[in-house]
Amino acid sequence: MDTVWPQVERLLMGVQKPARYIGGEQGAQAPVHGDGQAAWLLLYPDTYEIGLPNQGLQILYELLNERADAVAERAYAPWTDMEAAMRAAEVPLFSLENHLPARAFDVLAFNLSAELVYTNLLNLVDLAQVPVRAADRGPGDPLVVAGGHCAYNPEPLADFVDAFVLGDGEEVVGEITDVLVPWLAQPVDGADGDRRDRLDLLRALAGVDGVYVPSLYQPRYDGGRLVATEPRFPGVPDHVDKRTVADLADWPYPKRQLVPLTEVVHDRLNVEVFRGCTRGCRFCQAGMITRPVRERPAQQVRQMVSDGLARTGYDEVALTSLSTADFSGIEATVRDIVDDPQHGERVSVSLPSLRVDAFTVGTAAQIQRVRRTGLTFAPEGGTWRMRQVINKLIREEDLYAAVDAAFGQGWRRVKLYFLIGLPTEQDDDVVGIADLGKRCVDIGLRYHRSVTVTASVGGFVPKPHTPFQWFGQATVAELHRKVAVLRDAARGTRGLTIRWHDPEATAAEGIASRGDRRVGAVIERVWRDGGTFQEWTEHFDLARWEKALAAEGLSLDEVVYRHRHPDEALPWDHISAGLHRDFLWEDWQQALAGAGLEDCRWTPCYDCGACTGFGLEHVVASPVPPAGGSQGTGQDLASGDRIPVDLLATRPARTP
Ligand code: SF4
Repeated sequence: MDTVWPQVERLLMGVQKPARYIGGEQGAQAPVHGDGQAAWLLLYPDTYEIGLPNQGLQILYELLNERADAVAERAYAPWTDMEAAMRAAEVPLFSLENHLPARAFDVLAFNLSAELVYTNLLNLVDLAQVPVRAADRGPGDPLVVAGGHCAYNPEPLADFVDAFVLGDGEEVVGEITDVLVPWLAQPVDGADGDRRDRLDLLRALAGVDGVYVPSLYQPRYDGGRLVATEPRFPGVPDHVDKRTVADLADWPYPKRQLVPLTEVVHDRLNVEVFRGCTRGCRFCQAGMITRPVRERPAQQVRQMVSDGLARTGYDEVALTSLSTADFSGIEATVRDIVDDPQHGERVSVSLPSLRVDAFTVGTAAQIQRVRRTGLTFAPEGGTWRMRQVINKLIREEDLYAAVDAAFGQGWRRVKLYFLIGLPTEQDDDVVGIADLGKRCVDIGLRYHRSVTVTASVGGFVPKPHTPFQWFGQATVAELHRKVAVLRDAARGTRGLTIRWHDPEATAAEGIASRGDRRVGAVIERVWRDGGTFQEWTEHFDLARWEKALAAEGLSLDEVVYRHRHPDEALPWDHISAGLHRDFLWEDWQQALAGAGLEDCRWTPCYDCGACTGFGLEHVVASPVPPAGGSQGTGQDLASGDRIPVDLLATRPARTP
């Protein structure tokens, strides 16, 4: 197919931020399409600014383009002004590299990192001029694939996606290509027996480890309640396991990170230092589904940083993971980076996920020499009791020591992240958030005339494959009430700001998070009603979702707020992240009892299933936990609510 660039170019004068649609970034490839190849269009279903830095997409982009039998290009969701212009001019969704129409590709592959982008996925498939429902696609239509964390409950999108990839994608994309290329070699319109059959392709894909083909499975209901999700054909596996790349050392990607021509989020060099987390925070789906921990060798991290900085010209590098301060030898690694004469004084290192202890802040102070904008910590719960329930075992003294170190070393702004609507939460736990914030302000005022402490509060959404997957989410009204309790408790404290996430959006996220296949029709209704970009406040309206639920005979009470029964079938029971259901249930009971669970990197394995079922083990360089407070030297499961009066009394007086 021919490029649509001439048509696209005509639209650019009339839209905001035309740089979103032109490509040409440093690191962008110029794939040459040919016979015998599978052409992949990698899509991020949100704006260019949000999607471009996505590392998963960039890794697959490089890996596929290294293959002789594949090419890969990218596309992001056009903003509403561009979409309107495209629809009016009948310009289809297009790729950024060659500006080819999306239908010219064999695969439309989506990265799903948040539930509220689901309506955008439907919109992009439609803009690609491909049937939105998988059942309506024929042998000449592209395959619609989705991966990312949301794929662990694929059912809400089961009617729209041909195949989901579970877990790490590095190996699977090659294996899908191996299946696809011979199938594509068959004619679309040949005689019987010499013609592509889409079902043949889907069945072959179901044989690839880590690939789930929802149309080969049938949910069974009893009186409106899901009973099981079962294979429709013999030979289709009754459950699908995730894929795990055993050793990151084998995958030093991306090697040519994209450098955008316009401003994007996380506009810096990003180097992934490890995958997985076994801290065991019970609300955290990412930590649960990405086990075990696999560290990249420190030498490889240094090399990737060095090569990346030299190639991109960035002066900031982020070492990314779910908890970067837990990386073995983090101090030495960052010191080597900032002291490398090749980079000089200009390079700043950021640790996007700081641990809550003074030791980590000290490391941050050493390395953030250039900019000290603000430090963020995530205690998540306002009281020690609450933090025991969620297994985020941060002692108050460690939080205060971290904040003390931050203000003492020059920072004036500290942000604290919390969740509300957590299991067993009482108003005391919510008020505890304000108490922590006030104490942090007091600590800051010992060093500076004015400080800002922001307590940022999100509503908790129970996620599949976590110990909290059975918990009934707090209602919109209850979350609003909790926010009011918190604001009352914080009122009058200068320097303390409370920010909160929209409870209505939290409810909508809950619909897609734990919904079953029936929620697909709800998502389609919201999309047809104009509900795209649901992560963007200006486009979000819960009324659309409630109306769509009602039209499908569902409700927030049924899908979101209801506690799941222990014997109830869950929509993702046939999808495995490795975690035993028994382990999750036991951990849920432990949570209700307020009992903590230690990090299995440095304590005996408790057989959650993530390693034992797959012949894997942690790849961690250090045999001992990192230094630090409750989050370093091993969590203290017994105590945590001691108020550090001594700590405050021994600090030097603030400077004028
Ligand atoms: S299987 Fe054992 S070692 Fe592996 S993540 Fe689970 S508890 Fe930890």
